Amino acid sequence: MDGFEARKVPSPGSGTRDRVPQPVRAVVVGGGLAGCAAATALAERGAGVTVLERNDYLGGRAGAWTERLPDGQPFEMERGFHAFFRQYYNLRNLLRRIDPGLHHLTPLLDYPLLGPHGAQESFTGLPRRPPFNVLALIRRTSRLRLRDLLRVNGAAALEMAAYDPVTTWRDLDDGNARDYLDSLRFPPDARQMLFNVFAHSFFNPEEGMSAADMLMMFHFYFMGNPEGLVFDVLDEPFSLALWRPLQRYLAGLGVAFRMGTSAERLERRGDGWRVALAGSAEALEADVVVLGTEVPALRAIVARSPQLDDPQWRRQVERLDVTLPFAVWRVYLDRAVRHDRHPFVGTTGLGHVDNISVYELFEGESRRWALQTGGSVVEVHAYGVEERVTEAEIRADFLAQLHDLYPETAAAKPLHELFLLRRDCASFAPGTYADRTTVETPFPGLALAGDFVKLPFPTALMERATASGFLAAGRLLDRWQVRPEDVWSVPERGLLAPIRHTFPSLRVLWP
Ligand SMILES: Cc1cc2nc3c(=O)[nH]c(=O)nc-3n(C[C@H](O)[C@H](O)[C@H](O)COP(=O)(O)OP(=O)(O)OC[C@H]3O[C@@H](n4cnc5c(N)ncnc54)[C@H](O)[C@@H]3O)c2cc1C
Repeated sequence: MDGFEARKVPSPGSGTRDRVPQPVRAVVVGGGLAGCAAATALAERGAGVTVLERNDYLGGRAGAWTERLPDGQPFEMERGFHAFFRQYYNLRNLLRRIDPGLHHLTPLLDYPLLGPHGAQESFTGLPRRPPFNVLALIRRTSRLRLRDLLRVNGAAALEMAAYDPVTTWRDLDDGNARDYLDSLRFPPDARQMLFNVFAHSFFNPEEGMSAADMLMMFHFYFMGNPEGLVFDVLDEPFSLALWRPLQRYLAGLGVAFRMGTSAERLERRGDGWRVALAGSAEALEADVVVLGTEVPALRAIVARSPQLDDPQWRRQVERLDVTLPFAVWRVYLDRAVRHDRHPFVGTTGLGHVDNISVYELFEGESRRWALQTGGSVVEVHAYGVEERVTEAEIRADFLAQLHDLYPETAAAKPLHELFLLRRDCASFAPGTYADRTTVETPFPGLALAGDFVKLPFPTALMERATASGFLAAGRLLDRWQVRPEDVWSVPERGLLAPIRHTFPSLRVLWP
């Protein structure tokens, strides 16, 4: 044990019972990862759960639904490529309910980063353990020479290895990620290749993201991640590998799904709740409620629920926000991309494009389609897209960048395409940390879950959504002294966190 391993997060409750001792009615609003994790933990402990989901499909931002190709062939469409990192301990535990050996997760051993003028970085073959992974990356990148390293702001760079759950937020939350990254004084092309893509991976533009959030993400994915940089992908569409099996599993535990049904508002009813449904006079009575929606929906539900009357909490909810839009373009080409293309590449400095995936190289349905037709299924993503940029401009840029990077696609005919431009990912703006909502609310029997919720350990995206759902269920079950789901995390602080308070003197040594 070197202190750099997954750790069990202190339990949100002290209960020891395996199941609720009496009938308990739970309503979970939102059928994304957060809501489904909460529904799982509640139903496994014996609560009677109803999941309300606005869409006709489960999964929210990681959801999938059936579309048809022009020839009538059905295919499963998703909100876009998702990477399942190895330190997503809670998400993996959720997936084990339906796939105990995690056989649907296949590793992508390399995911190069492509930049302008043929620049390329690879993350393959790095040591698993920090700081050796970072040192190896720095040593092998051609973009950093010794004299560049001597100019780097060492004190600022050490912050990356010194994440601390208290002092990093206290000292750096007011600053933005762009200023922090500029302060490192990396040469521009090294900064672009090593860091530009990082803030975007959380959908936020650098200048609109807290420097402390960026450092927390850096700790979670890199410096504090005991599992290495490898990530996995699902080998079949999300609907087949995740959502349908999970829905069947939960239905087997008695969970009722109300698809295409939105919660409108909440009212207090004695010790419990009444959840009014949108567009109908119907309401569901519940002992406990989890609000597991994305930010705009949470704000709307709270605004319509005057009985959620704690002024400070209402203000916190009102201050939650979404970041800039993202775009996903999935295209079915009539001919194959070159056989040596990577399943996934990150990109930087190439117009709006943040990554490109070639689906037949890792996903079964696309592979079968490609074998049958000789075509390719390609997906392009852009995150943190400025609002003034139009859909037509993004599409034109995607096409041009794709032709440029993978010239064989220039002659290909798109047989079918799907384009999504959405704005529903959470903002992590500077100076907002202290005020962010947590799983707990001031109201007994009501908890929040979602990838925007502040959790007491480093985490992000799908993993944060899942962990928050487990924690929300644990909080609510505590009323009946029921044992919560175990929740796991990477180490809570960085290797150098203990010396963080001496940084001023380090700055003197290495200004
Ligand atoms: C293009 C893209 C790529 C991504 N890539 C990655 C990745 O590689 N790795 C990663 O970890 N994460 C990735 N993410 C992020 C990940 O998808 C999210 O973090 C995660 O899915 C959020 O889950 P959630 O349950 O918190 O929210 P959501 O998935 O948004 O779920 C909220 C649910 O609530 C429902 N709802 C809203 N209002 C109501 C209402 N009033 N009544 C009933 N239901 C309601 C919504 O329909 C939705 O289903 C990506 C996201 C996108 C968009």
